[in-house]
Amino acid sequence: MHVLWNDQLLPRHEVHIDLEDRAYQFGDGVYEVIRVYGGQLFLLNPHLERLQRSAQAIRLDLPWSLPQLAHRLQELVAANRLVDGAVYLQVSRGVAPRAHAFPRAIQPVLVAYPLPASRPTEAQERGVRATFVEDIRWLRCDIKSLNLLPNVLAKEAAVERGAQEAILHRGETVTEGSASNVFIVQGRVLRTHPANHLILDGITRRFVLELAAKEGISTVEAPFTREELLSADEAFFTSTTQEIVPIVEVDGRPIGAGVPGPVTRRLQQAFYAAVQAVTQQ
Ligand code: PMP
Repeated sequence: MHVLWNDQLLPRHEVHIDLEDRAYQFGDGVYEVIRVYGGQLFLLNPHLERLQRSAQAIRLDLPWSLPQLAHRLQELVAANRLVDGAVYLQVSRGVAPRAHAFPRAIQPVLVAYPLPASRPTEAQERGVRATFVEDIRWLRCDIKSLNLLPNVLAKEAAVERGAQEAILHRGETVTEGSASNVFIVQGRVLRTHPANHLILDGITRRFVLELAAKEGISTVEAPFTREELLSADEAFFTSTTQEIVPIVEVDGRPIGAGVPGPVTRRLQQAFYAAVQAVTQQ
């Protein structure tokens, strides 16, 4: 496997992560996961723009332009002959003796490498079970930061309860999944939490909102409660690696008819068509 390490493409064993890397000690950095279909980085620019916004939000200056980063990632995909998969990319504030405040002269450390990913067809076809978990994260969930402990704990709780994903909620308000965004369908309207500081504005979330508009489905970005989710006609998760996955049950209660609904199906079809258009370029 070839890894992009700052400006170099190297075999994995030649990449050396320092003991005093601030990502390792403080989670002081930001990241992205970008899907690759047919050797193409899908929605690359929105991912890189979000990386830049996340970096700015933690006052980390990226020493690479976005076109430079795009070019390097394309080289990484080519070097690994990656056709269908994903790329993980993280930027740490850098290496310095351990102290909380920002060190004066410090160089960010970038690492990017391929991740295996394939369409989770069974989950997409049949839908999945989910479980509610209290959202105990900080108030800047819009930053895609390396600090993922609450997300890790929420996902682990879901796995232990036999569910595929945790639906996070602050009090009665549903925010998002542990690694996904949550949508509900109420009548003819598609609804999801607004992109504010309480959620990560998923690239797939935004893409699905655009697809819905093209399909003539009304959308509203407004919070909803746990009860509204439980009484919705349909619900689904979105994420880069999961795409659109129907939620058919939450904590033992069926959503709608307990099977994936027609609006979810239409959006999945529109999503597959968009991916196909990219791979046939
Ligand atoms: N919310 C959280 C907390 C996530 O970790 C993710 C996945 N990275 C998402 C939403 C979905 O974002 P995207 O569609 O950009 O993968």
